[in-house]
Amino acid sequence: MKKIPFITALVCAFLLVCISGFLGFQYLTLNGRFQTLETQASQLKNNNAELKTKLSDNKQELEDKEAYLESQNEYISELSQKLDTLASEEDPDSPDSAEEEASGSSDSAEDSSSETENGNDPYPNLYAEGFGSGETEQATEKIAYLTFDDGPSSLTPEVLDLLDQYDAKATFFVVCKNNEEYAEYLSEIVKRGHALALHSYSHNYNQIYASMDAFLSDYEKVYDWVIENTGYTPSLFRFPGGSNNGSSYVVNEIIDELERRGFQYFDWNVSSGDGSNLTTTENIIDNICNNIGNVKHPVVLMHDGSGKNATLAALPTVLKRLSEKGYKFRSLDKTVPSVHYR
Ligand SMILES: [Zn+2]
Repeated sequence: MKKIPFITALVCAFLLVCISGFLGFQYLTLNGRFQTLETQASQLKNNNAELKTKLSDNKQELEDKEAYLESQNEYISELSQKLDTLASEEDPDSPDSAEEEASGSSDSAEDSSSETENGNDPYPNLYAEGFGSGETEQATEKIAYLTFDDGPSSLTPEVLDLLDQYDAKATFFVVCKNNEEYAEYLSEIVKRGHALALHSYSHNYNQIYASMDAFLSDYEKVYDWVIENTGYTPSLFRFPGGSNNGSSYVVNEIIDELERRGFQYFDWNVSSGDGSNLTTTENIIDNICNNIGNVKHPVVLMHDGSGKNATLAALPTVLKRLSEKGYKFRSLDKTVPSVHYR
């Protein structure tokens, strides 16, 4: 009688051992799998972080390359403008060359006046009334219009300080930056008596020259940005790449529309060449100082955007040498004879 419960108990105990053994085995297996999964998850996390870092590095690299291409584009555009100028100088029928001839003759007038100083003037009495008076001097006052594109940037405060040293006023064609500190420089530009002018919001050729509407939409953004930060209403602008930017067939339409709205644009007739990052400080000094005398109202293209350290380094010498040549530095306004490629 007592055997049956004993056997039952034995069977139950056996079954219990089997079940707990099975469960234990399952636990160990699952635990092992869980740990493997955990390791895999942490590896995936690491990989993800690495990929994110790589992605951000690549993005930065891409942005740098885009900025470089942009500056090269601008430089190419400058070179093509130079070529156009040279071609028109060679063409005797072109109005430009007539202007050059006129300025050439004024050079010879200057030569004869220097002859006067030397006492070699063969016509010593042949002078109109008022010659040599203060009025004539004022008319021949040498003024250089220095312009800075693509700022503000970390270089702008130093540029402003250098200009102050020579009581020089310049014109800043600005690009919108999502940087509060840079935005503060806009007010500083105005406060120190310079002209604050517009360049672009995005400075992205493909976007802004896609249509007149695309340009105006971009232009309105930089216009609003300047007013919000300074209360100053800009009325001058410069096309990214200049008005004869090859990538645009809508530029004439844009000019008409913006002039109808009271804005005036300026190209340049002396280039520092600093659009290319390959241009050295010495090149910049030479490009400006050797060419400034070729034009009557020099509008000098420079850049104070990020990375234009060569320009910043050239600026003290440029200011010094041009001052020694008798130049005064003024900012552009609507009364200055326009410099247009179109
Ligand atoms: Zn630009």
